[in-house]
Amino acid sequence: MTDEGPFQLIPLPLGQWSTNCYVLISGEESIIVDPAAEPQRILAAVEGTMVKAILLTHGHPDHVQALDAVRQATAAPLGLHPADPAEFGIGGDFDLHDGDVLTLGDGELTVVHTPGHTPGSVCFRFGRCAIVGDTLFSGGPGHSDTPEALAQILASLRDKVFAWPDDIVFYPGHGEGSTIGAVRPAFEAFMARPRPPGLCGDVEWV
Ligand SMILES: [Zn+2]
Ligand SMILES: [Zn+2]
Repeated sequence: MTDEGPFQLIPLPLGQWSTNCYVLISGEESIIVDPAAEPQRILAAVEGTMVKAILLTHGHPDHVQALDAVRQATAAPLGLHPADPAEFGIGGDFDLHDGDVLTLGDGELTVVHTPGHTPGSVCFRFGRCAIVGDTLFSGGPGHSDTPEALAQILASLRDKVFAWPDDIVFYPGHGEGSTIGAVRPAFEAFMARPRPPGLCGDVEWV
């Protein structure tokens, strides 16, 4: 558990794919990002708070295994970007759009649309932190299904994520996070090199 600016941030690696669910708490309120699996562990983390919303970074199955159970137990509204529901069969209660600001207690988080891993992938910026889902990992961009999707995720990273200051700490959908500044040299070197045509999938910076 760490204290991240306006929020207390609780990372919970859950389920068979070790997908990171993140619980944000401010005062009496909380937000659950990506209820990946093991609903009882998520519910224990938010116990005693009013769950204001459940948010998805994107609609992939490994990020929503506990969604139904957590929704039922908390009655909290579900927010996700409108580009993902059609593809993944998830009906949200409200849409997340680029630039939306959500309040939680005394703090705010901003929605940043970063398509590429999926059409509706988003990141959540708050304080000096960001939850980035499967858009960015220390070792490379998130998985891309096609060369076009890779081009799209790289554009999202160039125009939005790497426009953030170097001291921003990012929290990915799997594994440990890092800072933007720590990954920037590898990202920039990758962007400066010619890429083999057809490149996509689990791409690494080096
Ligand atoms: Zn994913
Ligand atoms: Zn994932």
